[in-house]
Amino acid sequence: CGIVGFIGANDAKEVLLTGLEKLEYRGYDSAGIALLNDNGVSVTKVKGRIATLRDKVDEDVMATMGIGHTRWATHGEPSEDNAHPHQSGSGRFTLVHNGVIENYNEIRDEYLVGISLKSETDTEIVVQLIEQLANEANDVLGGFRKALSVLKGSYAIALIDNQNPDLIYVAKNKSPLLVGLGNGFNVVASDAMATLKETNRYVEIEDKEVVLVQRDRVEIQKLDGTVVEREAYVAEIDA
Ligand code: GLU
Repeated sequence: CGIVGFIGANDAKEVLLTGLEKLEYRGYDSAGIALLNDNGVSVTKVKGRIATLRDKVDEDVMATMGIGHTRWATHGEPSEDNAHPHQSGSGRFTLVHNGVIENYNEIRDEYLVGISLKSETDTEIVVQLIEQLANEANDVLGGFRKALSVLKGSYAIALIDNQNPDLIYVAKNKSPLLVGLGNGFNVVASDAMATLKETNRYVEIEDKEVVLVQRDRVEIQKLDGTVVEREAYVAEIDA
């Protein structure tokens, strides 16, 4: 399973699909991508191969940012509905996740009463929770932080907000995730292998940090909002 994200000036589709192909070796049962542009978010998901996803993605959707996912099902059978990305009730937030949320039942009972779910995954709980908390705080970053403080378990997460196409929200806990730095673009990946074609400069993310990834800027924060400075390293592997 794996995650890839791209934000830049060129078409995101090819970077995401190629990245997911590079992550195939990790194993998966389904896959999907979300592309965000001025017309909104476009989500494509399949049960099965990346090649099938590639065929299904609308060639005409041009977007300079997006997120992609290969799933290894832990909660809910492998199916198109359970494949990621998952969306919040209003459709505003779109999220990919690797890992397992241990307290998803408790979160549903405490925060999501009366909300109808579209999948059987632990992951959908996360995106629904973020929407609730972002609405409550009237602040997306505040809601994202609060959600992370509620989650128990393992996660690598990339989140997009269709009201802000200039930013990908990223976080991890006990699951791998890196940020790759480019010239005029940045990427996110479970494994540098996925995006070596784009860049060999990577920044590590530590557990429970919040990373704000923009086209020309990456900011790492602690959960309390303190900014963290961290040097990039060069990944010495062949693509
Ligand atoms: N637990 C999530 C699910 O079953 C994510 C699995 C994964 O890491 O791909 O959908």
